[in-house]
Amino acid sequence: MSVIYLDNNATTKVDPQVLEAMMPYLTEYYANPSSMHTFGGQLAKAVRTAREQLAALLGADESEIVFTSCGTEGDNAAIRAALLAQPEKRHIITTQVEHPAVLNVCKQLETQGYSVTYLSVNSQGQLDLDELEASLTGNTALVSIMYANNETGTIFPIEQIGLRVKERGALFHVDAVQAVGKIPLNMKTSTVDMLTMSGHKIHAPKGIGALYVRRGVRFRPLLIGGHQERGRRAGTENVPGIVGLGKAAELELLHIEEATARERKLRDRLEQTLLAKIPDCEVNGDIKNRLPNTTNIGFKYIEGEAILLLLNKHNICASSGSACTSGSLEPSHVLRAMGLPYTTLHGSIRFSLCRYTTDAEIDRVIEVMPEIVERLRALSPFKNDDAGWLQSQEQTLAHR
Ligand SMILES: *Cc1c(COP(=O)(O)O)cnc(C)c1O
Repeated sequence: MSVIYLDNNATTKVDPQVLEAMMPYLTEYYANPSSMHTFGGQLAKAVRTAREQLAALLGADESEIVFTSCGTEGDNAAIRAALLAQPEKRHIITTQVEHPAVLNVCKQLETQGYSVTYLSVNSQGQLDLDELEASLTGNTALVSIMYANNETGTIFPIEQIGLRVKERGALFHVDAVQAVGKIPLNMKTSTVDMLTMSGHKIHAPKGIGALYVRRGVRFRPLLIGGHQERGRRAGTENVPGIVGLGKAAELELLHIEEATARERKLRDRLEQTLLAKIPDCEVNGDIKNRLPNTTNIGFKYIEGEAILLLLNKHNICASSGSACTSGSLEPSHVLRAMGLPYTTLHGSIRFSLCRYTTDAEIDRVIEVMPEIVERLRALSPFKNDDAGWLQSQEQTLAHR
């Protein structure tokens, strides 16, 4: 089955070169990199090379890279470490549009005596830096803000934020899972103290990620045990995953300019053609400051999930802004925080491209989308009836 995969913000395909680099470490090179023998030493060398490759992509020093199992672990570890390192401070600042790997940690911390400020966003998904500045106090241990939003692609002004955070002496953690490989990074000149990335969003396999921890930042591990990762993350290293992540980082660095330019062109063509062909739709998010591979489009009067089902019949993979929670159609917390009108809140679709996306695939989506939207709208009892649609959505919400 050939699929048109435009859901790369959810996960990506493993690059064949990444798999090739990993294979020896899934077969003949299986020793423990901490072992004293030469065999183990060969594995330790592979881990060292991967660390150099990832450090190069981030503009970091190798000693500042801690391998983790995923982006979620990086986010959890960074937040916990920041709090453990400053036990006297009990306040955290984050945003309403973070990934659940940050949001749900913060929610739990609220039950453990911490206070959390969730910064709001405007209708384009942008933060108000004055609100950030007003929220920062001497009690603020940590500011955790994502680099780029996974649903809309909106990019936050990380270094402008960082300057304000540093002025108040708080630690600054950035969830850069969507930014790594898409935005050039240089941690040497950055204000960021800790930065999370994940392998499976950059064509490495699932089960491997990394946390950048700036040299000098006091760090307390989430996983306690052996001395791996300089005592910052216990557990025998996932050597095949680490080698794959290193290779993926090398490829991202090699391709970043040309790949992002290509993706942006394809994305813009997809977006502009859909907007021109389909009435009553609009782009969600900050169009100027946006990841090159992402478009999130709201189609009035219809349900995003219905669009996805029909796209699925054409083997086209996309995503709706909303996560399907226990059978009820929960509108996306990101789009809700942006205050989108109900008429588009439920009918939003995200297409996310990658360096493998082809012109022919974009053509196909452009071909089928107008029919799909037209078909669903013909069935919609609220076509061009904002008030009726609003009322029906309010009823649905009230029933939950
Ligand atoms: C995917 C994602 C994560 C989680 O990463 P995993 O490796 O899947 O745990 C965290 N933050 C953002 C912004 C993401 O897109």
